[in-house]
Amino acid sequence: MWGGRTGALLRVWGLWPAGVRGRRPLGCNAASLAGNNSPQCWNCGGPGVPKRGDGFFCPQCRALQPPDLTRDYFSLMDCNRAFAVDTAKLQNRYQQLQRLVHPDFFSQRSQTEKDFSEKHATLVNDAYKTLLAPLSRGLYLVS
Ligand SMILES: [Zn+2]
Repeated sequence: MWGGRTGALLRVWGLWPAGVRGRRPLGCNAASLAGNNSPQCWNCGGPGVPKRGDGFFCPQCRALQPPDLTRDYFSLMDCNRAFAVDTAKLQNRYQQLQRLVHPDFFSQRSQTEKDFSEKHATLVNDAYKTLLAPLSRGLYLVS
């Protein structure tokens, strides 16, 4: 009761909003810099691609970006991090990703993008195989 009252009083006195308002621009900036460690685009130097989602391509120049090798297989394959996985959904996602990054689609592109597409395809293959089989999925979950 007293704790809640003190908080209300602080708000009434304007201590709390003033502090937040005063620091907000800097705090926001620092937070977004710290939280967003996605690399710049290797091709155009643009701000790069969000870590989440299907941002395999630079939003500005459409160049294929290097794979994020630290990315969780479940997040890559758009599955809940649980032992029960919808294998039909997993298969769809696998095909969807292969259509995005398959090396065949990069035969006319730069060597850098060819290399990245090979790495992406390998990663997607590994993720798919790991999550498809219950044994390897279980081992991956506990690892
Ligand atoms: Zn770019």
